[in-house]
Amino acid sequence: MSDLDSLITKKVADRYFKREVLGEGTYGVVYKAIDTQTNQTVAIKKIRLGKQKEGVNFTALREIKLLKELKDPNIIALIDAFPHKGNLHLVFEFMESDLEAVIRDRNIVLSPADTKSYLQMTLKALAFCHKKWVLHRDMKPNNLLLAADGQLKLGDFGLARIFGSPDRRGVSL
Ligand code: ADP
Repeated sequence: MSDLDSLITKKVADRYFKREVLGEGTYGVVYKAIDTQTNQTVAIKKIRLGKQKEGVNFTALREIKLLKELKDPNIIALIDAFPHKGNLHLVFEFMESDLEAVIRDRNIVLSPADTKSYLQMTLKALAFCHKKWVLHRDMKPNNLLLAADGQLKLGDFGLARIFGSPDRRGVSL
């Protein structure tokens, strides 16, 4: 890495003010953070950049590449991605909860209208992925994230893959 590269990386990393840990993923910790430029609350997934053969780097790069192309109201937005101190940081819009937490919470009773709305948003997200020739391959309530305003967004594209014919006009890796 050149001096200029390290300078730019530091500047970008300084942009986010880390808060508490939100959860532990398969490849690293997820933090709540504040974007000091926009004052927006974000979630930062910190991925350890290990040896290539561990497959972590491929998973992270695949997730970055796919999410950069998949911009939709029902798909989690990747705001930023940068390396810092041997870790890869993926900056996502902050989501209040996920469908698994809602289902498990006995104090929350979902009406048929709620269920239909969540299902419709899930199917819209999936239809958009398939239109772009992307298979998510890890559909589960825990990956259906919920924003404070009730909007559902599909997340965790670590297992996603491109499919389809050579003449497709979707995402290419
Ligand atoms: P896994 O690798 O286990 O599928 P992730 O790495 O995607 O999980 O996320 C781990 C945890 O971090 C989640 O269970 C959730 O609690 C939290 N999390 C992930 N993304 C977000 C987000 N955008 N907003 C808020 N919390 C998040």
